[in-house]
Order: sequence, then C-alpha cells, then structure tokens
Amino acid sequence: MNNRASGYYDPQGETLAINLKDDFQRRKLGEILPLAYNGSAAIQDNFDRLGLKAEEIQSIQDLERIPITKKSDLIAIQKEHPPFGGRLTLPLNQLKRIYVSPGPIFDPLGPGRADPRCCKCVFAAGIRPGDLVQNTFLYHFTPFGLYFDDALVEMGCTVIPAGVGNTELQAQVLQALKVNGYIGTPSFLKAILDKVVELGFDPRKDLDLNVAVVGAEMLAESLRSELESRVGLKVRQAYGTADVGLIGHECPEKNGYHLFDLEMLFEVVDPSTGRQVPAGEIGELVVTSFNPVYPLIRFGTGDLTAIDDSPCPCGRTSPRLKGLYGRVDQVTKVRAMFIHPSLVDQVAARNPVVSRCRVLVTQQSHQDEMTFQIELSDASIDSKPLAEKMRGDIREIMRLRGEVVIVPRGTIPDDAKKIEDRRNWE
Ligand SMILES: [Zn+2]
Repeated sequence: MNNRASGYYDPQGETLAINLKDDFQRRKLGEILPLAYNGSAAIQDNFDRLGLKAEEIQSIQDLERIPITKKSDLIAIQKEHPPFGGRLTLPLNQLKRIYVSPGPIFDPLGPGRADPRCCKCVFAAGIRPGDLVQNTFLYHFTPFGLYFDDALVEMGCTVIPAGVGNTELQAQVLQALKVNGYIGTPSFLKAILDKVVELGFDPRKDLDLNVAVVGAEMLAESLRSELESRVGLKVRQAYGTADVGLIGHECPEKNGYHLFDLEMLFEVVDPSTGRQVPAGEIGELVVTSFNPVYPLIRFGTGDLTAIDDSPCPCGRTSPRLKGLYGRVDQVTKVRAMFIHPSLVDQVAARNPVVSRCRVLVTQQSHQDEMTFQIELSDASIDSKPLAEKMRGDIREIMRLRGEVVIVPRGTIPDDAKKIEDRRNWE
C-alpha cells in the first residue's frame, strides 16, 4: 500500500501560498454575500435591518458588523419560517437530501458531488484509494454516515455502510474482510475492538486496520494511545457540525485541526462581545460557509478554541485549531449527539411530577454516561414506573440512553446548570 503519511488529496489547494489564499477568500466573500442576500429572504431582512449592504463586507474583519447566529437561534429561525428559516437559495425539491438533528434542525444538502473537505480529511488521515473502509457513523437522519460514504466512494474506496450498533457483526466484518479503514466515534471503535478480542481474535494479527478517522465526540489522548497501540493503526480526528459539515481535520503531525480555509471563513471571537480575538487566544469558533445552497453567515459553533497559524511540517498552509476546549454555553455532546438544555426541559415537561431536574454527564472507561437527577413534587409516587417511562422519553427526545435517579428535594442546587459535564479529558 502506498505511503499513508504523506501527500495530499488536493496538492494545489492544500499547499496554496498564504498570500494567494487571502485573495481567494476575499473573492469568495464577495461572491457569497450577494448570493446570500439575493437568494435568502431572511438574510436580506437581517442586512436591511442593520442598514448593511452586502458589498460593504469585504474582509474577515468586516464580518464583525454582522451578528452571530447560534445553533439555538437556528431552531427558532427554522420554526418561524419552516423548514429552512428562509435561507435556502434553491427550490426544496432540487435538494439531494435533507438531514434532521434533534431540535428538530433541518440541514439541506444541495445537488452535486461529494464534499471535497471530507476527501481531504480522510486522505490526510491516511486512507487511500483502493482501501476497504467500514463506516460506522449513523446513516439515517444525521449527515455524517452518508457524508463520509459519498467522499470515500468519490476517492475510489470501497465502503461497508455499517452504521451504529451491531457490535459483534462489526467485529466479525472487520476481521473477515480485512478492513483497512474505520470511520466513526472513538468510543465505538474501542467497543468493537473489545468485541474482536472477546471473539477470540488478536487485533494485531487478525486485523488489517491501518487508519481510523474519528469524530463527533471528544477523544482523550489516553484512548488514542490505547487504540493505536492495540492494533498498530493511526487514529486521526475530524471536526465538524451537522450545520456546516466538516470544519477541520488532523494531519499526520497530529498537532491540531487544519481548517478548511478554501471552503469557509473562520473567526475566533470573544463569546460575550462577538469581537475577533488574535491568533492564540481562546474564544468561540465562528464560521461563514461558502455553501451557495444554504449560506450560513457567522455561524457560532459554540465551541471554544484558539487558532495556531504557525507553519505545519506537513506542508498544508491552512491555519489550525489548537484544540477544542469545551462548549460556550450548556450545549454539550454525549456519545456523539448534541444535548441541549431545551431537550432536557422537553423530557421533564412530559412528566409533570418532576419539579426539578438536571443532567450529569460522566465517563466510565471512555464511554459517556448520562444521568437525569430528578426531584419530585409528590414523594409518594411509585418511582419504578416513572423512571421506566422517563428512560423511554429520553430515548425518544434525545436519541440517547440515560439513567434516571430520584433524589430528595433540595439536592439540586438553585443555581445548578441544567447539564453538568463532569468528564475529564486529561
Ligand atoms: Zn499539518
């Protein structure tokens, strides 16, 4: 197999000189803003209310004049003008797919070929044309299953559309077909490898797994080392959101996420003011995508990060995110799914006897655990059927398993966060 640690999917684009990149980005901004303004009633409205003209925004610095749109705003915007908040620039029936995230939030996929960002990401991780790749991202509703599938096929790989679950079958397939690449969450890869061992195989001898591209949840470095040493493979991370697709990826150097700066613009801002902070300083990542079908201008990811613009030995000229340091608000991710305080409220609202509740997120041997702590207005109620019903509500609303623990009144402090993340990423 060809060298997995060098080369580029798009040699010209990925190593483009920085001065040429600035010109390119200005030109793109000059294209996308008028397109968004003319194509989307909601964006036109926004600009008009601010007294802004699309052509006045010519540089990344100028973007500061536009307010940030948050993920939670998107839910409200879409509810007000369903399904895409008046931001779609095409007739709906010209879309290739519509993805759905809890909220619900709808994400349109326009016509055309696979996303080049995704091809660049998996190539940088070490996947090559001709590889056999097991894709374990969810294929229904959420985008990443088909997103990676499309890109892998475009690159000339063969895909096993495995999806989530069926751990034993996943392990059997990995061994029987001598799969080269894994795509999915790191915790699920660990679960599959545990199953491989349980089935009596030796991951080093009986598998031919060279590369894992993982994402959708935080990866503790201890888990990365464990996975890499158990199998002799390389684990590289992808970072993105359902709303804008992939945002960054790790290269062979494993020193942060290279940003897709030919496909979108990036700012790191002070979350309280929306003003840009200098490279190296921590703030919220805000992206402006060049997606002509569904332009998102200044989309606040809610992720805290810092930019590293020092050159990378891999030769890619894009700046990198040093790391992801947590969520700006209480939105957090559990087992690759976003959980938001409003979803917690939805679960509670179905059970009027719950007077107060919060969610604790913890970790047990690298698997996320979610526990609903609840206080009841009526202590005499039979707790078993209530907990059983709530577990069903959690599964339905949050699409996750969650435990329910009834605590005495007064246990949950008045100023408690609705979602408390107690995971440790050291
Ligand atoms: Zn690099």
